[in-house]
Amino acid sequence: MNDQCPTCRHYRALREQAKQAGDYSKATDYEVLRRRHPTHAVYVPRQAGGRRA
Ligand SMILES: [Zn+2]
Repeated sequence: MNDQCPTCRHYRALREQAKQAGDYSKATDYEVLRRRHPTHAVYVPRQAGGRRA
């Protein structure tokens, strides 16, 4: 669960703020940042062929 990652929670909060402010491009930026966040224990980035933009 990403809820244990404070950075992801931070990004998600910012995303919600941007959404409520009507700034959807900014909200998308934060969503991308959250998805790319590398320090999740569940996510193992060292895999061949796991190329996601
Ligand atoms: Zn995270």
